[in-house]
Amino acid sequence: MPGQRGLFIPGPTNVPQAVRLAMDISMEDQRAPDLPSFTLPLFADVKKVFKTDTAQVFLFPASGTGGWEAAMTNTLSPGDKVLIARFGQFSLLWADMCTRMGLEVDVVDVPWGEGVPVEIFAEKLKADKAHAYKAVLVTHNETATGVTSDVAGVRKAMDDAHHPALLFVDAVSSLASIDFHMDEWKVDICVSGSQKGFMMPAGLAILAVSEKALAARKAAGMRRCYFDFEDMMKTNKDGFFPYTPPLHMLRALRAATDLLLSEGLENVFARHHRLAEGVRQAVSAWGLRLCAAAPKWHSDTVSAILLPEGFDSAALVRHAYTKYHMSLGMGLNKVAGKVFRIGHLGDLNEIMCLQALAGAEMAMRDLGVPVTAGSGVGAAIEYYRGATASSALKNAA
Ligand SMILES: *Cc1c(COP(=O)(O)O)cnc(C)c1O
Repeated sequence: MPGQRGLFIPGPTNVPQAVRLAMDISMEDQRAPDLPSFTLPLFADVKKVFKTDTAQVFLFPASGTGGWEAAMTNTLSPGDKVLIARFGQFSLLWADMCTRMGLEVDVVDVPWGEGVPVEIFAEKLKADKAHAYKAVLVTHNETATGVTSDVAGVRKAMDDAHHPALLFVDAVSSLASIDFHMDEWKVDICVSGSQKGFMMPAGLAILAVSEKALAARKAAGMRRCYFDFEDMMKTNKDGFFPYTPPLHMLRALRAATDLLLSEGLENVFARHHRLAEGVRQAVSAWGLRLCAAAPKWHSDTVSAILLPEGFDSAALVRHAYTKYHMSLGMGLNKVAGKVFRIGHLGDLNEIMCLQALAGAEMAMRDLGVPVTAGSGVGAAIEYYRGATASSALKNAA
């Protein structure tokens, strides 16, 4: 089929041309004497995306899942207790990894559609006078349900309880799209990946690690080798790596970071909010509901949309793919067949969102879902016209 296939999944996201071209290079010497003049400023600029002055950035050849493993193996010991809430496929997988790696996992199950239960965490942390919890794990943006959680609230609960546990945040589908404050929230390890807000192919786990978490590695008894922070630190300080780095990915990261910083992080967040809000307007105009149970959970990077009872969202996603040449996100695990997802993050603008909404609308009508043609698109058009005009004026002022 001619034309571009629409990619409206919450990762991998669309890769901007500047990032693609940055990767189209001849192979480079990973021990070249001038490599540090490229890598050291790159480390420094990636830190800005995490909003940190004090944390250290690590770039592992891995996907986000490898970032989780790096976070835990470098800081914890077998049998250490961790606290995590499970409310979607990604928080579920993270909790599962903790169990498989030999940690003692206190899992708080929450209905899918809600986020981290800050009050329950606060109670548990207060009750833990012996400080058995060594780490508190927060999935900032649950990609399966389109739910964003309150990291600052968890930090406050930890501070109120004077609890010394490490705070780990999975920001794979939020970093560089939804505001994140590594230093202000005193996050100890933030795990991200290349294929979402960073608008790159999958293949880099991007972490920021606090001084406190780096100190914890000295007593951490879990086995680690490939993901050892120590090896990275020894070589990274001079701008090199302990094994062959994926230099084309680092070139892409340079280009992506330049795009983010030149747009301005606050503008990037505002754009994501605006795009997401237009999608939410469309969902209500369709007469449908989001999986996210309340506005405070609404994610600005992905919307999981519940189909009415009796309709199969997997069939919808398949139909949109074959007939309209577009990818929507599927429902995963507990919400499989119930929700479809629109990823609205990364290299994206209003027109692209309208394309996603129009395609979803056509596919829903084909399957007999009772939505009025043009209703969602129309609502989003009116919202984007107003919201875009006012932000364009603000930028001009
Ligand atoms: C995508 C994602 C991950 C990591 O998945 P990988 O496929 O390993 O990159 C982890 N957590 C969340 C919330 C995600 O969206």
